[in-house]
Parts: sequence; C-alpha cells; structure tokens
Amino acid sequence: MTTKTVHLPGFYWHVHHDLLIEWCYDYQERVKYIKDTKPAREAPLRFRLFRPVRGVLPAAYVHAGQAYVQARQAYVQAEQAYVPARQAYVQAKQACVPAEQAYRQACDQAGQAYIQARQAYVHAGQAYRQARQAYRHAEQAYGHAEQAYDQVRQAYRHAEQAYRPEIEALHALECPGCPWDGRTIFPQSAN
Ligand SMILES: [Zn+2]
Repeated sequence: MTTKTVHLPGFYWHVHHDLLIEWCYDYQERVKYIKDTKPAREAPLRFRLFRPVRGVLPAAYVHAGQAYVQARQAYVQAEQAYVPARQAYVQAKQACVPAEQAYRQACDQAGQAYIQARQAYVHAGQAYRQARQAYRHAEQAYGHAEQAYDQVRQAYRHAEQAYRPEIEALHALECPGCPWDGRTIFPQSAN
C-alpha cells in the first residue's frame, strides 16, 4: 500500500540532470516531460534522483532562490506581453511605409501646384495693378478733358450769342436768297 504523494512547488534535487538543486514549479509536468522527451534508459535514474528536498536549507539560500523564481516569473510574463507588442509594432511600421510614401508624394505634388498657382497669382496681380493704374490715369485724363470741353463749349455758346447779329449780317451778304429762317433751310417743310 502506497499513498499518493502530493508534490508541492519547492526545491528538488536534480530537476535537470546537470543541476544539483532547483526550484520546481510543477513536479507532474516535469515527470511527463521526462517521459515524453528523454531516452527511456535514463528514466529510472532520473526518477530515483528527482525528489523534493526534505531537510532544512540555509535561509539565505531559500530567500535568494525564491527571489530568483519570482523575478523569472515576472520576466516570462513580460516576455509574453513583449512578443505580441513587438509583432504589432512591426506590422504597424510596415503599414506606415506606403502611407508615408503617399504623404510625401502628395506633399511634393501639392508643393508644385502651390508654386505654380502662386506664380500665376503673382503675375495676375501685377497685370491687375498695372491695368488699375492705367485705368486711373485714363479716368483722370477723361475727367480733365470733360471739364475742358464743358468750359470751351460754354465759351463757344457765349461767343455765338454775343456775335449773332454780326454773323447774321455776314450771312445775309454771302448767302443771298437763302431760305434759312433762323432754325432751318426748309421752312416750308412740315417738321
Ligand atoms: Zn444761307
């Protein structure tokens, strides 16, 4: 009659063939691993020597060993988080490459379009300012000419009125038999 021994996590002798003592998380899992992967002729010796430490180990050694076990667990967990994070990073970086290329192309094209549009705008602006200046000069000249014309026209009308008797006397001498009645040379016409 043998009672089934419960194997708790702890320090064991010869968990691996090349180590004297080691912390073992899971005795059953290690046993299965040896059965599955190690040569059958090695098994009896491995299982005879792979045993929990029964006695009292030095306290400092136990503390250091437990600290090592905890640190290793934290390291394994961190590695598990690191691997998918790195994969996601690499994928994101790869996806970024064509987006960056498209962005740079768009920048170049937009830059060229901007330069051309700016040049066209500058030229159009120059032409506009020149035309505006020419228009203002012409407008001023037109205003002056209009004023001068008004003045001369008034002067002419005044002179025409002032000298009408003399002009009519001259006309009577030079245009005998003229039907001019002061308004038309066709006084008979009904107009
Ligand atoms: Zn006449």
